[in-house]
This record gives sequence, C-alpha cells and structure tokens, in this order.
Amino acid sequence: MRDTIFALSSGAPPCGVAIIRVSGPDAGTALEILTGSLPTPRRASLRQVRSPEAGWLDEALVLWLPGPNSATGEDCAEIHCHGGRAVIRAIEHALEAIPGLRRAAPGEFTRRAFSNGRIDLLQADALGDMLSAETELQRAVLASALGGGASTQVAGWREAILSASAAVEQELDFSDEDEEGVAPASAWRETVLEAVDEMRVWLATPSADRLRQGLRIVLAGPPNSGKSSLFNALLDEAAAIVSPIAGTTRDAIERPIAIDGVPFILVDTAGLRDEGAEEIEAIGIARAEAEVARADIVLWLGPEGEGPEHALEVASMKDLPEHAPKGAGAKNVSSETREGIAELMQAISTLGRDLLPQPGQVAISQRYREHLGDACEALDSAAQMDDLLLAGEGLRQARHDMDAMLGNVATEDMLDSLFGRFCIGK
Ligand code: GDP
Repeated sequence: MRDTIFALSSGAPPCGVAIIRVSGPDAGTALEILTGSLPTPRRASLRQVRSPEAGWLDEALVLWLPGPNSATGEDCAEIHCHGGRAVIRAIEHALEAIPGLRRAAPGEFTRRAFSNGRIDLLQADALGDMLSAETELQRAVLASALGGGASTQVAGWREAILSASAAVEQELDFSDEDEEGVAPASAWRETVLEAVDEMRVWLATPSADRLRQGLRIVLAGPPNSGKSSLFNALLDEAAAIVSPIAGTTRDAIERPIAIDGVPFILVDTAGLRDEGAEEIEAIGIARAEAEVARADIVLWLGPEGEGPEHALEVASMKDLPEHAPKGAGAKNVSSETREGIAELMQAISTLGRDLLPQPGQVAISQRYREHLGDACEALDSAAQMDDLLLAGEGLRQARHDMDAMLGNVATEDMLDSLFGRFCIGK
C-alpha cells in the first residue's frame, strides 16, 4: 500500500493563509484525527484542528476530496490554516505523528496524478514550465498546453496509427491467403499522410525550450563600441526576471530579462578582451565568437556591415558629436541620454516574438520534438511502402513514439528528472 504524503503547498510563510495538502489512503483518517470527523466531500468546513499530543493547534478551513476524482486520483485533504510558521510547523508535526504519513518529495503530488492517469506527460511538463513561468508570453503559451489540447491531439494520432496497423494486418492476411475477391482498401495510407501533415505543423512551430529559457541577445562589437554601457541601459529599462532560469549558466555578463512580456537572456561579450594580456584576449574573443554563434539575436555595435549575418545594426553614443549614424533599419542610440533605447527594445521584442511560439500554438520541447520527428519520418515512409511487413513495422515505431510523448512508456529516470524540478507541495 502507498504512503500518504503531505506538504505545505502554498507560498513561503509567514503568509495570510497556508494550505497543507494530504494525499493517499490515510488522508481521511488523518483529517478525522485532527478535526474530529470527515466533512462533506468537496465542501469547505470550518474546524478546530487538534493533535492528540499537543491539543488545540488552530482554527482552519478543511476540505475532504475523496479519490478517484481528486487532483492526484487518491483520497486528498486540504487544511487551510493561518500562515504563521509555528502554526504550520505544529500541524505538520501532528500529521507526521500519524502512522502511514510522511512528508512529500518535490513534485510528488503531480507524479501521483500522472501515475494515476489524471494527467499525462505533456501536461505534467507544461505544468512544471507554468510554475516557473516569469513572463506574460510564457504564461499565455503554456495556458493552452495545460488545457490538454496537445495530449488530445497526440492520443488522436496514436488511435489513427493503431487503426492503420489493423488495416495493414488485414491486407497482409488477405495477400497470405491468396484468396479471390476484392483486396481490402488501402485508405490507411491517406490517414497516415494526414497525420504526417498535422505533425509537420507542430514541428514547424518554434520549440518550447527557447520559451522556457529565454532568447539569447548578444551584444557584439570591438572594444569601446559601447556594449557594456548599452547592456546596462537595456537592463535598467527591462523587467528583471528574478528566478534563475533552468538550464542556463549565468556568469557576470548575462542577465535574464523580460521585454514586453518576452523572455530574453542579455549577454555582454565585452569582459576579458579589455584586460589586455594577449592570452586572455584570445580567450575573450573565442568566447565572444561562441556567444555570437549561439545567439538568437545579435546587436552589432561595430562598423556597419562588418558584423555577423542577420545582426541588428546598432550605433551607440548618439549624444556625442563624433557619433556616426548607421543607415536604414539600424538603431541609433545613446546609453547616456537613453535616446533610442525604447525603440531598440521595441525592435528586439518584435524580433523575439517571431522566434517564439505564439499563444494558441502548440509548443513542445526538444524531447517531444525528437519523438515527433521520428514518428513523422516513420509514417511518411510507411505510407509510401509496398512491402506491408515493413510498413507495419514503421507504424509500430510511430505508435511507440506517441506512447513516449504521452508518458505511457516513460522510464523511472526520466520521471525522476521531470518531477524533480517541481517544488515541494506540488
Ligand atoms: P565596450 O568596450 O564595447 O563595452 O564599451 P563601453 O560600454 O565600455 O564604452 C566605452 C566608453 O564609451 C566608456 O567610457 C563609456 O562610458 C562610453 N560610452 C558608451 N556608450 C556611450 C553613450 O551612449 N554616450 C556617451 N557619451 N558615452 C558612452
């Protein structure tokens, strides 16, 4: 039998109200022990919370959410108590003293929801991203993913592939028996090609990873072209993103920011080059080149036309008499007086939006894109194949990819890494 888990699910105390969630077979017993009896399911009830050892602990709103129609699919209880640290600690101690109850690991409630079929892998992943979303665009795109639209589509493809496999089997049987009569229709090939077209639309949509991590804007140009000053000027204007973004290394010269709701990482490639020593200078240049190579947007502050391809031309120091303005399409700015900075930020946010998924589009991360790309190829060649045995094998592979996307064949390691990034209490 499974343990019953509990955790503080609301934010860091002290706070107005704290929510302690309990999930598992002993959730009902725990609520009875602490509040006397089970309230009506799914109705908030005001109760005195007492522990057998310590007596009266708090007055709280409690909820009894019996499974399987609960968030985790198990019996659940919620205690909405006062958000003081001592109150929370006392209730947690009282819960811990009940046999069969223990503190939840990070993401364990969601993991139970997944293993009880309440959500699938695509939804769990979107939920993880939603919890760490910092900008409006991230929230808006993830909102559609959380609704389960993506999962419904993948499950639909899986069904279509399954029917196609059955049709291929039928055709195989017919050819084996060498019977007289009309061969079964090959309509499955059309169905499969329709799915391939739909999958290609998803593959053409920008990946969710860039949305999660932020687009990299790299400032490049020779020394003294004004990169560091522009870096600071942009930072001052942009909204700072407070939490570190997962998967990005952050050293002194990169900062996550939001411009107009779009997440970016601003990177200054100056740094080492200014220090003069030849070896250090070489390292600095190599690093700058590597940054430019992995940039989504390059702001080029050097001589016009000498920057990397597709870079946005920027001429700094507009306030100085020696300023040489750049031509059409370029942004002429002053980091000192801030002239042109707002227009530059507008241009960056427009470029950024085009590189990221839009609200309403299905944005999937690299892990899913690989499965989808493999499935797409396998289906495309299966649909063109005369050899029915090989076509059947291609369909089987594609179905396996759909299962992997939905989490039907997920490994423990993969689940550990997915749910490990959630906070405790989620
Ligand atoms: P970097 O080496 O490319 O990072 O260039 P810096 O940002 O360090 O700028 C070089 C020099 O130009 C510094 O002395 C800055 O104060 C100055 N500077 C940079 N941008 C401006 C600007 O827009 N206006 C003025 N007046 N000075 C600037």
